Formats: sequence, C-alpha cells, structure tokens
Amino acid sequence: MLPKNPQKGYTSLKWQVPLADVAVDDELAHAVDEAVRSGWWSSGPRVEAFEGAFREYTGARFALAVANGTTALQLALDAAGVGAGDEVILPSLNFVAAANAISHTGATPVFCDIVGPGDLNLDVESVESALTPRTAAVLALHYGGYPCDMARLAALAERHGLAVLEDSAHAPGAKVGERSCGTLGLAGCFSFFSNKNLPVGEGGLLVTDDEALYDRARLLRSHGMTTLTWDRHRGHASSYDVEVRGYNFRLDEIHAAIGLVQLARLDDENRARAEIVARYRRDLEGSALSMPFAGVPHDVTPVHHLAVVVCETPEAREAVRAHLDKRRVQTSLHYPPIHRFTAYAEDELRVPLDRTEDVAARLLTIPLFGHMRDEQVALVVESLLEAA
Ligand SMILES: *Cc1c(COP(=O)(O)O)cnc(C)c1O
Repeated sequence: MLPKNPQKGYTSLKWQVPLADVAVDDELAHAVDEAVRSGWWSSGPRVEAFEGAFREYTGARFALAVANGTTALQLALDAAGVGAGDEVILPSLNFVAAANAISHTGATPVFCDIVGPGDLNLDVESVESALTPRTAAVLALHYGGYPCDMARLAALAERHGLAVLEDSAHAPGAKVGERSCGTLGLAGCFSFFSNKNLPVGEGGLLVTDDEALYDRARLLRSHGMTTLTWDRHRGHASSYDVEVRGYNFRLDEIHAAIGLVQLARLDDENRARAEIVARYRRDLEGSALSMPFAGVPHDVTPVHHLAVVVCETPEAREAVRAHLDKRRVQTSLHYPPIHRFTAYAEDELRVPLDRTEDVAARLLTIPLFGHMRDEQVALVVESLLEAA
C-alpha cells in the first residue's frame, strides 16, 4: 500500500509540481526509530534482511547491499574482472556515474548511440561497431525503466566473449518475460537515491547468480576483510584476514530499515507511476510532443522511473521548459550526454553519436512520482499543451 495520507515531503515554495518527491509516513518513521533504538547502526540484521527480501523480489541467487548505486556499479565491474587496459561500452545518454565507475576501475568508457527518439535505449548495432579486442564488458542501461534489448545484447556478448552488466537504477520491478531486470546479465546494479522508485536516501544493491562474482564483490565491499564487525559482535569470528585491497561500500541499518519498508511498497509505487504515464500519453496524443517507448515488445514489463517528452526542435524544448518553469512545474534533462561533459570531452569517440546528440537536445523530463495528485498531473499536462 502507498501511504494514504503522506505527510508532505520536502516542501518547496518554488514548485507546484516538483520533479520527484518522497512520501513520508509513520511506518517509515517507526522503522527508522526502531533501527536507531536497536543500538546497532552499522551493517547488521536489517541489511541482511533487506538483501534477503531483494533476492526474493528479483529471483537472484545473491544480493549485496551497498552504500549507493554508484558503488554497486563499481563493485560489479571490479568483481567481473574489469580493469586497466579494458574497454567498457555504455550509452552516452546516461547518468555520469556509469562512466565514472568504469574509469575508476582503470578501464576506458566507450560510448555508443541510442536507437532513436522512440527508443532511448542503447542500439546493439552501435555497440557492435564500437567493439575492439580490448572490449571486456557492456554496461547496459534500462532507460527510464524500459528494458533494453537484452536478448540481442546477450547474443552479441556471447559471440565476442563479453560480460553484460546491467545498470538497473531505473528498473527495479521491470521484467523481460518472467525474469527481473538486474538478473538478465552477469550482475545488476540498483540505486535507492531519493528520486528513484525505491527511495532510501543513499543506498544501492548488486544482484548476481554468479557465486564467484558475489564472493569477490562481498570481500571488496568491506576492505577485502574476511569477516564483518557484525560477525565478530555476534561471536561468530574473532579475527580477520584481508584477501584483496577493497573499499568501504557498506550500507547501514538505518537505511536498510527504510529500504525494507520501501521494497514492500515498490509494486504499488510502480503501478501508480504507470497510471500517471498512461495519462500523460493519452493527454499528449496528437500534440507536438512525443513520448518515447510508445510500443514495447509483448514480453517486456517496464517500470516508470522517468517521464520524458521529445520536442520537435531544441528551441521548442527551451520554450516548453521556460513555460513550465513559469507555471511552477519542475523539469529536468535526462541526460546531458556524458561525452559532452568537460571530464570526458577529450575522449576519442569510436562511433557516431548523432541520435544521442539529436534527441538529447530535444528531450525534457517532466514530474513523476507515485503520490502525484490528480491536479498536479493535470497542471503538468495543461502547461505542456499551452507551450507546445
Ligand atoms: C541514480 C543513478 C545512478 C547512481 O546511483 P547513486 O545511488 O546515486 O549512486 C547510476 N546510474 C543511473 C542510470 C542512475 O539513474
């Protein structure tokens, strides 16, 4: 159940409709209170319970909760053996975390193009054009919660001996057939940042069916140490060895307590978001604004993290954005392409990114969260139609 009467989230004088919002209620506050009063704040029973609940939810064999989605990406890459001298292919229409995580392993991010304005996911042919003998992995994104073409990607990866890792930050609950996003490749990474479908504040999680990858990721999560403070506290261990040079990417009990409540609400949140997106689609039909992913293959069950519209021209996008700002409707851009950022501007481009460039200049993200009120949805639509 979504909270019936959520207390107002973060209150803003500026926006009538914020881009995203968390629903706060007593159940969440009690869960945090209980975790605080337990007296055990670092990784412990709630983190283990959260991992267990996520294994059950996704059907993955293993789940590892971590400090945030970016650390999940870094662990997945590192545990998959990606490192210096390797190349990893990813779409440029993406959050920068993916390229940063690849870079921090010592590998080189190689950007690929998207399919086009109707499908903002990576184009498998563009991935193929970007391959070299140094390509070790593809870091796939399920843009906005719409699964990318994992079947074709898996076939390509098989032919070339590549690992497929999933950035599933947008896609908790999305499925291809009966299988959850995050379990379609070697490992899947989730984010629980405050604006995601399962908001915790800061938090992330890695799932995999590969025991060796899981064992290595688990070691790396906590300094490469063979036992946790929690194990020693319970008397299960008294000392430890350090087997690899790891990180501190652990999640804590307070965030895990929020995560457990939010995971139980995820399907309702996803359903509420789907209804709002369906209304956006219906109401914008025939306007100058198009919504990507109008048709999805019959075996694909998307979730909805972002609601985006594509304007006819970059100038039209700026005009729509300015009008919504005036109506106090918050908008954003998902995403400024990574290859255009200063930190990546010097990187060699392996393949043309024309469709990414074209779409990114016309793309606009509009508000979406499960507890949007009808009047808020109506205001977004009305403002869009006035401006388009
Ligand atoms: C949010 C997000 C991340 C990063 O997750 P954090 O929890 O903020 O570190 C990575 N990739 C994508 C696509 C995201 O949307």
